[in-house]
Amino acid sequence: MIADFHIHTRFSGDSEADVDKVIQSAITKGMKYMAITDHNDFEYENGMFELDTEKYFEYMTKKKNEYKNDIELSIGIECGLEPTFYDRINKLISSYDFDFVIGSSHVINGMDPYYKEYFENRSVHDAMVEYLKSILENIDMFDNFDVYGHLDYMMRYAPITAEEKRYDYAEYGQLFDEILTKLINKGKGIEINTSPLKSGLYDTNPNLQVVKRYAKLGGKIITVGSDAHSPEYVGHSFQIAENMLRDAGFTHFNVFRNRNFINIPL
Ligand SMILES: [Zn+2]
Ligand SMILES: [Zn+2]
Repeated sequence: MIADFHIHTRFSGDSEADVDKVIQSAITKGMKYMAITDHNDFEYENGMFELDTEKYFEYMTKKKNEYKNDIELSIGIECGLEPTFYDRINKLISSYDFDFVIGSSHVINGMDPYYKEYFENRSVHDAMVEYLKSILENIDMFDNFDVYGHLDYMMRYAPITAEEKRYDYAEYGQLFDEILTKLINKGKGIEINTSPLKSGLYDTNPNLQVVKRYAKLGGKIITVGSDAHSPEYVGHSFQIAENMLRDAGFTHFNVFRNRNFINIPL
């Protein structure tokens, strides 16, 4: 795999990663393309996830140029999608010439599944249903993103064993079918996010069954991202992602430049 399209640096509220080290790690691992996709989530706690976009853009443009002979750096953003902030999110994304925009669900009805309160007084099934419904709502509402990030992200934090997190597609099949179909009809993609594999979980976000179903429904746009928050995790478990893509029948995956997707053969 020669492209990691989901990476964080010190411009994200939850990362201290040095930008040069992140880029050099990607180059060392043989990557030809990468996207730095730092977080923006409006009004999260003390504003810890509000991206200093002006500075970010200026800095990344410099780095893009500096490393252009070794790797193509796409300037991306991972934008938390929340209906409450619809106007601000659109304004932010359209004010800069991003190469790539991941739309993600981090906060659902005011709560982040990262915190255990999200799961209090209800089953994991019900929590997942709420999560997926909020994704549907976001897809209906938002247009200004390229791929939907880590579709079943909340499962990372569900208070159950790694084994129990391996849900069957059929359990949420109707909702997933609706999500995937809407994304395909809107010309949006999904990603395979390998981050859970570094913490001992068995499945990527989303899992192989979802990726297979996406392909079956006609989905073509798919990126692969480590969601690394430090340099060593760039490209983590990408062999598994590649196997998943092949298994689902893909012969390519995607990178983005100027918000347009490019097919990279597997
Ligand atoms: Zn995320
Ligand atoms: Zn991320």
